[in-house]
Amino acid sequence: AVPVALVAGLSRAAHFGVLIKGAKPLEALARINTLVLDKTGTLTGGRPQIVSIDRLGALSGDEVLYFAAALDQASKHPIAQAIVEAAAARGITLPVPENVVETPGEGVAGSVDGRSVVVGGAGFVAAQVGVADPDGAVVDEGAVVVSLALDGKLAGHLVMADTLRAGTTDLLSGLRGLGIDRILLATGDRRAVAEAVTEGLGLDALRAGLTPDQKVLLVLTERKNGPVMMVGDGVNDAPALAAADIGVAMGARGAAASAEAADVVLLVDHLDRLLPGIEIAQRARRIAL
Ligand code: ADP
Ligand code: MG
Repeated sequence: AVPVALVAGLSRAAHFGVLIKGAKPLEALARINTLVLDKTGTLTGGRPQIVSIDRLGALSGDEVLYFAAALDQASKHPIAQAIVEAAAARGITLPVPENVVETPGEGVAGSVDGRSVVVGGAGFVAAQVGVADPDGAVVDEGAVVVSLALDGKLAGHLVMADTLRAGTTDLLSGLRGLGIDRILLATGDRRAVAEAVTEGLGLDALRAGLTPDQKVLLVLTERKNGPVMMVGDGVNDAPALAAADIGVAMGARGAAASAEAADVVLLVDHLDRLLPGIEIAQRARRIAL
């Protein structure tokens, strides 16, 4: 039988919007000492604003946004959703994209108005259309950059600013106070963006440009030093969440696949609910043992 203290812990955590999927995850949550955080949508709010639109070809800025947003309607990626919202805010009406193929965490290919379109990270789009990585062309190294290719040619970049969630510094020191002594960032995005966003946070390590498989590898490597909690929101995070001792999904706006792979789901879009979640788990474990 499951000790009553653990059952009570599960229900108290649920009050905070922290869904812990059973007594085993609750116990494991109490013992975590390493935390791996995803960036976009987890450490950041994942609601980036468009700062500027670079045009490389004949398209206007609104046309760059039109094609990018039309295709990104097919993606659940937080950046894709922000692009769709930006188009709506400018009163741009979007057609339904066709032949959509998404590469999770990297971008989407498909057709819009019968033209072939690729949208996503600069490296991904460059590889899809067979040109050298255009990163060098981007002025603001610290900004999130989404590239657009149209009919096999680079057509523009959307330069976006995504910011840390409010209270992140307090959250990290609170977590350290609960015994989490190693905190890392793991992102599919570029290193320059990761460095700019996390400056001053005092993270123990920063890994950028990771594929979903490389996130798994990172989690497995860290597990050699102790129990690891991984927090993520994207489809691309699901394998790493499953590989961690405790996978935590940002459930409110995140991908269903990550919520399914997780041991803990944050039902509200507040990363700082990790604190009551871990506190409750630690207390329940002390009482139960
Ligand atoms: P993280 O691992 O930090 O959550 P991701 O790997 O999810 O970051 O995203 C990294 C980058 O990939 C984004 O900053 C963006 O440039 C790009 N990207 C991925 N998917 C899409 C998409 N559907 N539309 C636009 N950009 C995308
Ligand atoms: Mg993410």
